Amino acid sequence: MNILDGKLVSAKIKEDIKKEAAAFTAQSGRKPHLVAILVGNDGGSETYVASKMRNCELVGFESTNIRYDVDVTEDELLAKIQEINGDANIDGLIVQLPLPKHIDPERVTEAIDYRKDVDGFHPINLGRMQRNLPCFIPATPYGIMLMLEYYGIETAGKKAVIVGRSNIVGSPMSILLARNSNPGNCTVTVTHSRTANLKEEVQAADIVVAAIGRKHFVTADMVKDGAVVIDVGINREESTETKSGFKLYGDVDYDAVSKKASWITPVPGGVGLMTIVGLLKNTLEAAKGTVYSK
Ligand code: NDP
Repeated sequence: MNILDGKLVSAKIKEDIKKEAAAFTAQSGRKPHLVAILVGNDGGSETYVASKMRNCELVGFESTNIRYDVDVTEDELLAKIQEINGDANIDGLIVQLPLPKHIDPERVTEAIDYRKDVDGFHPINLGRMQRNLPCFIPATPYGIMLMLEYYGIETAGKKAVIVGRSNIVGSPMSILLARNSNPGNCTVTVTHSRTANLKEEVQAADIVVAAIGRKHFVTADMVKDGAVVIDVGINREESTETKSGFKLYGDVDYDAVSKKASWITPVPGGVGLMTIVGLLKNTLEAAKGTVYSK
């Protein structure tokens, strides 16, 4: 078994991003700038946003975190998004999900200017991704593709099975792996909670992408020998073993599945770190105007 090492790959790509950011700053007189809006006090979201901000600083971006109480109105949030859309000194805008129930995430997503939508969730970016046109690719699938590319994992002609069909992971992942590109050219099956014979579907996979949100859902008996296993899951459990008071578990039973897999991502240290890289690359591209010219 070989490890798809998010720590190593993300560090290398971040070095490149840092150099490109410095060149952009030297030329334009300002840093690439990402704004993250966070509503409420969800522990997981706070951790993710803090990590995104920290990584921006590390690669030489400017980052701004705008926080709202959980009872902010949808109108107030939409007005702020409009203001940011019109601010030429801001390149990328993300609104951390999930949002409180009284705010419609679709309205919020569509309110973001697609040219600043560095999370890649706007329907224009999703549509352009499907058509293989320049766009912002959702950060997690983007990070996974960069990792497959880095390790030269052969994907053409392989059977990929995605477990989970969310808008942010499973669904875009299925589009990317099926596209006529490298990595890509897979024959893709998307599975979900209504899939019959899920175990048999996964057993047939050369590449498994697990994005379910259930600790150790994918067990060794579901995975064929030599499969490439990508574990997107981040399941937080309280723990006395860590400083943070939480321990993270993937959607894959790593200890058992790693004995059968040819390549596997650990949790933590895998896809999560690559997600940050996807976001940073999108933000840099937004600043440089390489995806959508300014
Ligand atoms: P969602 O809850 O949006 O989607 C989960 C998907 O899993 C759904 O499509 C659901 O099916 C499917 N599912 C749930 N239970 C089952 C089941 N018993 N059998 C088959 N399918 C099932 O989750 P996300 O895609 O947002 O996230 C998935 C995981 O990835 C989470 O642990 C999340 O924390 C993590 N994550 C990690 C990131 C990273 O950077 N590493 C980034 C984003 C997410 P249905 O559609 O039928 O309900």
